[in-house]
Amino acid sequence: MPRPVIFDLFHTLIDGADSERDRVVGEMALMVGVEPAALVDAYHATWRDRMLRWDVAETVLVLAGRLGGTPTEEQVARAAAHRRELATRLLGRVAPETLAVLDALRADGHPLGLISNATAETAEAWPAGPLARRFDAAVFSCEVGVAKPDPAIYRAAAERLGVDASDCVFVGDGADGELAGARAAGLTVIRTTEHRDSDPDWTGPALASLGELPALLGRA
Ligand SMILES: [Mg+2]
Repeated sequence: MPRPVIFDLFHTLIDGADSERDRVVGEMALMVGVEPAALVDAYHATWRDRMLRWDVAETVLVLAGRLGGTPTEEQVARAAAHRRELATRLLGRVAPETLAVLDALRADGHPLGLISNATAETAEAWPAGPLARRFDAAVFSCEVGVAKPDPAIYRAAAERLGVDASDCVFVGDGADGELAGARAAGLTVIRTTEHRDSDPDWTGPALASLGELPALLGRA
């Protein structure tokens, strides 16, 4: 069987859109009556809570409260909806070349998985986006309560694909130490720098573009 390939999401299959995220959080701040820059900082500072535990509305409520805000339920719902729209927008922004690579891998019989350190709105938006139907399994940190580089999340993805972790190839930009985590869990690791050079010290095969992946897998 062609080897299962497990991808990271942000900065691997789609752009991470870091500045757009900050802009949206600033707009959310105005909706709930707190200072935009302060809410942006609070979002960054609570990344682990958000990707492991909190849902979208909970995040808004907790962080606005910490900043002295007292938003109504309706204001919280409006801000949460604004954040959900961002997730839908980002997941819809996949390059046609990326979709073509995934389709080519599927046509060659590679089972495809996804592991994303992601907050609740991304997991909620995933099923309706253009990527979901191309994947056999998707594991989000917010749904399983563990995150990369914990080996447990790689094993969870392999299990959902019905294969051993050691049979899988992991492809990611390298944020959050995900490449070392994948190697520790027994996967074969390929770094991509197409969207961002997140782990420049990584030694091992790397792709400048995802388009190089099918040929690299063919040689492996
Ligand atoms: Mg990434």
